[in-house]
Amino acid sequence: MPDFYRKIIENNKKWVEETTLNDPQFFERLAQGQQPPLLWIGCADSRVPANQIIGAQPGEVFVHRNIANMVVHSDMNMLSVLDYAVNVLKVKHVIVCGHYGCGGVKAAMGNESIGLIDNWIRHIKDVYRLHNRELDAIEDKQERFDRFVELNVREQVNDLAKTSIVQNAWNHDQPLFLHGVVYGVGSGIIQDLGVNISNNSELDEVYQLSF
Ligand SMILES: [Zn+2]
Repeated sequence: MPDFYRKIIENNKKWVEETTLNDPQFFERLAQGQQPPLLWIGCADSRVPANQIIGAQPGEVFVHRNIANMVVHSDMNMLSVLDYAVNVLKVKHVIVCGHYGCGGVKAAMGNESIGLIDNWIRHIKDVYRLHNRELDAIEDKQERFDRFVELNVREQVNDLAKTSIVQNAWNHDQPLFLHGVVYGVGSGIIQDLGVNISNNSELDEVYQLSF
């Protein structure tokens, strides 16, 4: 067996031993079921592990990750996760977490073809087009990149709010708070972007669904 693979299997054994030593009922409790208060939509980037960076234990966060933390309204995977989180688990909060230095966002700023992923990156390019006046006006490339990461999070939170799943929950007065944050891979710090939505009145009128 390759060393890295063997190491992670051994790490798991150690983790189970240590966890059980500290809390003998830990796994028994988790086996009863889950009731996480939070759905996390983050980037697949290996440097942004959801639970670890917010100090959450197993059972506390329902997690969906993809390249550049996108909320694509025709993505059955994302919609299924969102539907289960909102309608079955009844999470109270959904966080979209972007991160500085995001490879997906960087690729969306450029023109190089990377392959199949170009079609996923397309969704991020649409965010650029939506904000091209602001972004093109930023001369410093790093600053423009950072701002693009932030604007992408903002748009993904808006796209979450536009889903029938979220608007239906609000229509039933189910408390559901959407938040946008950005993580600094070089600092470890999570910054609230001030995008906090809890009803559909903040959406452009054309997106507001009546039930
Ligand atoms: Zn990323």
